[in-house]
Amino acid sequence: MPVEICAGPGVPIETAAVDELLTVLETASTLRDLARATPGLEVEPRLDRVVCTPDFHKGAGIPIGTVLRTIGAVVPQAVGNDINCGMRVEVTSLTVDRLRPHLDALEGRLRHLFFEGGRRIGLTSAHREGLLRFGLPGLLAEGVPAGADGAWRQVGPDDTTGTEGRVHAAGYPAASADAFRDWITSGGGTSYDSIIGSVGGGNNFAELQYVSQVHDGSAAYAWGLAPGRVVLMVHSGSLTLGHQANATGRDQARAAWPRTVPMPSNRILPMVLDERSAAGRDRYLTAFDNAANFALGNRFFLAMMLRTGLADVAGEHSSRLVYDSPHNLMWPDADGSVLHRKGATPAGDEPVIVPGSMGAASYLLRGLGSARALSSACHGAGRSIPRGATARGSDAELDAFLRDFRVVTPLNHRDPVVAGRRNVIAAWRRDLKQEAPWAYKEVGPVVDSLRGAGVAQPVAELRPLLTVKG
Ligand code: 5GP
Ligand code: MN
Ligand code: MN
Repeated sequence: MPVEICAGPGVPIETAAVDELLTVLETASTLRDLARATPGLEVEPRLDRVVCTPDFHKGAGIPIGTVLRTIGAVVPQAVGNDINCGMRVEVTSLTVDRLRPHLDALEGRLRHLFFEGGRRIGLTSAHREGLLRFGLPGLLAEGVPAGADGAWRQVGPDDTTGTEGRVHAAGYPAASADAFRDWITSGGGTSYDSIIGSVGGGNNFAELQYVSQVHDGSAAYAWGLAPGRVVLMVHSGSLTLGHQANATGRDQARAAWPRTVPMPSNRILPMVLDERSAAGRDRYLTAFDNAANFALGNRFFLAMMLRTGLADVAGEHSSRLVYDSPHNLMWPDADGSVLHRKGATPAGDEPVIVPGSMGAASYLLRGLGSARALSSACHGAGRSIPRGATARGSDAELDAFLRDFRVVTPLNHRDPVVAGRRNVIAAWRRDLKQEAPWAYKEVGPVVDSLRGAGVAQPVAELRPLLTVKG
């Protein structure tokens, strides 16, 4: 089984992370055990190929930054817990020069839209079911509700038609959405949703950036990018739905586990593609597809909320989807192979989105379809200091950083009432220090590494103007 480490010399993968490969190798042997314990299989389950991206590091179970191609089995834990976490990038008709004078107003406006009840995305149960079963096309087929305010206002023709080729996994058709019936029917009629339009925690974000440098003029032109253009970048996943679908996957894998095979010590339980386990697997995969579709809709609404804020302060403008790209997903193939990406992004002949960190530059690249890398790249610069390590920087430095880089969070520490809650503020500062640029790698060498490995080539560099953090 070939194992490829697709990182150039500029971005050494820590030696501790290489130990994580043992986890993957154990799953290869689990698949051999399952093959022996399940006679009469049409295809023998096995691990076919493993790729480690430059951001390969320890995660729960299969390491983050791993791409796995299996034959005859799916591995629920080889997809990140947050199913279809991904990045969406849009380019607007606004320029940074036109927007700059409005940034103070925009900060207040986005705080209201994201965190102070301004979201108000009205969805009917038909919208919700359409989204979970057929993705964004299913949602938009139900129409824009008349009179609903908030984010819906910004839906344009580019959203409803012609996005083909600009969404990596547009619709995961699912037979039913029964696993999420509660969410579909909650509220009844048209109701404002409490989860859709949430950013999600950790390093999820909704960011406004501008094109600071173009490296590949013809690709940039084709994608609608030009120097100075304002860009929206959204990073989020399926929130609670993904976790619920994953729990279903783990339960079904355990229920189908052959008694003669010991539980692997890495606790990763693959599901063999055979008839006997088909019902349980279908239940899991249906919930998986529902969650994947939800994530796409959530990124769409987060972008819509950024558009709404921009329209409120800088006037009418248009916004065009550049790409929506998933980094926690699986792709079953008709030939019985399944490609799993966990914290890794597709890099075929398509845009590859590589964010840096809050306050630092991000990149758009063009994928080169490297077969060695299973057409995959890292989904970000990645951390240089593990989460949980002692945070650097004083409170004053953090506050200055948040102000200078216009970081909007659910907690407004400049509000005197909030500032009085010292324990809450201390916990909030501790979390945010984990997300500061000095906790992440520099994105430049990561991009060089992708280029050096023949995975992707830089198209444009983006600089941040404002970041909404979950
Ligand atoms: P993950 O999917 O691992 O949660 O995050 C993906 C990548 O996003 C991280 O590895 C990091 O490089 C990048 N990132 C994290 N926070 C931010 C942010 O606030 N803004 C930008 N542009 N990138 C970020
Ligand atoms: Mn993610
Ligand atoms: Mn990560």
